[in-house]
Amino acid sequence: MDTLLPFLLRQSAAKNVPYSALFNFRHSNVEGAPQIGTQTALGALAARDAANLPQALDCEYGRVGHFTAAFNRGTTIRFSAKRSFWSIVSGIPQDWSRAGRSPRSWEARSTMAEYSTNPAPDFIPAKYFAGLARLASHAGATLHPYTAVMGIQRAAGGFSVRTIRGEIWARDVLIATNGYTGDAFPEFQRRVIPMGSYIVVTERLDPAVANRLIPKGRMIIDTKHVLYYFRRTADDRLLFGGRASFAPTSVERSREILQAAIAKVYPELTRVRIEYAWKGNVAFTFDLLPHLGRHHNGMHYAMGFCGHGVAMGSYLGNRIGAMIASDEAPAPPFASIPFQTRFFYRGRPWFLPLAGWWYRVLDAL
Ligand SMILES: Cc1cc2nc3c(=O)[nH]c(=O)nc-3n(C[C@H](O)[C@H](O)[C@H](O)COP(=O)(O)OP(=O)(O)OC[C@H]3O[C@@H](n4cnc5c(N)ncnc54)[C@H](O)[C@@H]3O)c2cc1C
Repeated sequence: MDTLLPFLLRQSAAKNVPYSALFNFRHSNVEGAPQIGTQTALGALAARDAANLPQALDCEYGRVGHFTAAFNRGTTIRFSAKRSFWSIVSGIPQDWSRAGRSPRSWEARSTMAEYSTNPAPDFIPAKYFAGLARLASHAGATLHPYTAVMGIQRAAGGFSVRTIRGEIWARDVLIATNGYTGDAFPEFQRRVIPMGSYIVVTERLDPAVANRLIPKGRMIIDTKHVLYYFRRTADDRLLFGGRASFAPTSVERSREILQAAIAKVYPELTRVRIEYAWKGNVAFTFDLLPHLGRHHNGMHYAMGFCGHGVAMGSYLGNRIGAMIASDEAPAPPFASIPFQTRFFYRGRPWFLPLAGWWYRVLDAL
């Protein structure tokens, strides 16, 4: 199992099958999970518990499910192969189906294929985060926003943490800086590749139009390397995101890029007004897997969610918290996977524009 899981995770990290596919086990049949190994069964159970958390928070939790748009015919074929792969490996029937061409206006040569297990959960991450912060606060945690850590050293029985507001002593330290890992943590900075992800939100659409463009209100993601992901909001806007640029860029520029992308996907929205735009960093790793564990200097870490940190981060945050609280807590299999870097990488991803160019070439083939 220790070797199977990294393999499975690599598969899930590969194009077209996001990590969330692994987490979809929890929706369908947790009892079936032991068939792919005890550790994953535990993971699936823990993930199910983590998945219950958003329901308890005021974060517009729903289960509309997602729709994966196969960008070309080759991908549609790979979908079928992956459906079989997942069904055989997990022993859980995968409820995937082809959905022909839809919506009509998708870029000319693409086909759409739907795969979903049971309806995947969706919620508003900012509200989820605020809800978690509220819970932590009620449980007695003291939160210190806007307090950057400048450096950490070992000190008697723990760590001395130097922040912009002064120095504190901590018995335990968890580094969870993901796509914002900076100079304060050079060893981790060399292991995660920060990449911008960008979102725009349109003006309100006519509800009938919104319903036609995104049937069933599903979350939609495509299978390009330079992907788009989008959904309808509760107030009938189109929320549209994507890897607008591999090189760091401004929100203004990404807004233009994504507006042009919306026009490609939905030509009838060519003149739609964009009312909101923002960006944030995600963190990729060299093996496309998330990593967590205890560093040799005693600090704990959890990062590298490769753009899928909402479910993964919740689950692994739960696991690393248990590991910090007790030496007896079982480490999830991710903890045994070496956290790699490359000799040419010091934390400045100079190669991203090249990678972006290459991925665009692949998407064009
Ligand atoms: C536009 C966009 C869309 C996304 N869509 C999805 C999605 O659909 N599904 C999904 O699963 N994931 C999605 N993600 C990814 C998801 O948001 C991240 O994976 C998740 O936020 C990671 O959580 P985290 O707590 O590990 O890190 P973050 O939420 O990035 O938090 C890291 C924190 O560390 C702080 N920090 C950094 N350095 C220091 C320091 N020296 N001192 C103190 N604090 C520091 C930062 O200020 C930051 O608050 C998206 C991300 C973006 C930007």
